[in-house]
Amino acid sequence: MTIELRADKYITSRLETLKSECEELSKKAQPFLKVVLVGSNPASLTYVKNKKILCEKIGAKCEIVNLSSSISKEGFLKEIDSINSDPEVHGLIIQLPVPTQLKELDIYELVDSKKDVDGFSSKSVSHIYKNQVNDRSLVSCTPKGILNLLKAYDIEAKGKNVVIIGRSHIVGKPLFHLLNNEDATVTLCHSKTKNLNAICQRADILVSAIGAPKFIDTSFVKEEMIVVDVGISLDKNGKISGDVDYENVSKIVKAITPIPGGVGPMTVFSLVENLIIACRNQIYEN
Ligand code: NAD
Repeated sequence: MTIELRADKYITSRLETLKSECEELSKKAQPFLKVVLVGSNPASLTYVKNKKILCEKIGAKCEIVNLSSSISKEGFLKEIDSINSDPEVHGLIIQLPVPTQLKELDIYELVDSKKDVDGFSSKSVSHIYKNQVNDRSLVSCTPKGILNLLKAYDIEAKGKNVVIIGRSHIVGKPLFHLLNNEDATVTLCHSKTKNLNAICQRADILVSAIGAPKFIDTSFVKEEMIVVDVGISLDKNGKISGDVDYENVSKIVKAITPIPGGVGPMTVFSLVENLIIACRNQIYEN
């Protein structure tokens, strides 16, 4: 019987603790997240709403700062600076993608690293790279969520062959280092990788973060494999799809993340966990 790696299992086990931590911190300062959204991309609006709902569920504050899609670079930077220097705000995220005129900015470095609850800044990434992650670290949300999901199902990475497809700054690369820190043997694949099927076939754990609907079919997998589907894209009928052909792949492998209910909610939950860490770090800074 294939195991469905569902986010609920982890979230249910952590929610009450997170609420109590939030309540405790709120005696000094209520954890406060600001999300900067430029324009009105429908997918971004949905992601941002989910973040706000979860923040409020644990008792934290979340404000969406919706900026015009035609905002100038100067106007945008001024807005970010004012949030960075606001002592009442503990977490700041800039929802991606941003419009063309802002693309030349080094978005990942604009957020004060103390408030970098997305975990994208060089300082946050360096903790992962140097294997110095501790309970004060802001680890990027999707990789953090994947690790916590595997742990919730007692899936150890140590000694395993892990294949990750996709080498982005927000998923593939940080996940590569985190799993390497867990003593897995990690292979990072991308669009120029040759013999992708054969490489994937050697994996004990396969993570796909491409953004191509149902790209991972049965030719990539084997029995006893753990499959983690990060991808979210629209198929040709406009329906949300993962990278994995769930219907057929799930008949073969040992465990697999569903969509919805797998990596997506783990990512949002990690963000709220990071907000609590960032708030605690800022309150007890000195
Ligand atoms: P990206 O979109 O920046 O890049 C895609 C990566 O996939 C690149 O490294 C590219 O080399 C690789 N790739 C593309 N086509 C390939 C192919 N045919 N074979 C092998 N590799 C290929 O990456 P991203 O920002 O990490 O996003 C990837 C997907 O994950 C998207 O669908 C995104 O929406 C989704 N995503 C989901 C979550 C979540 O919480 N579930 C979080 C982040 C990203």
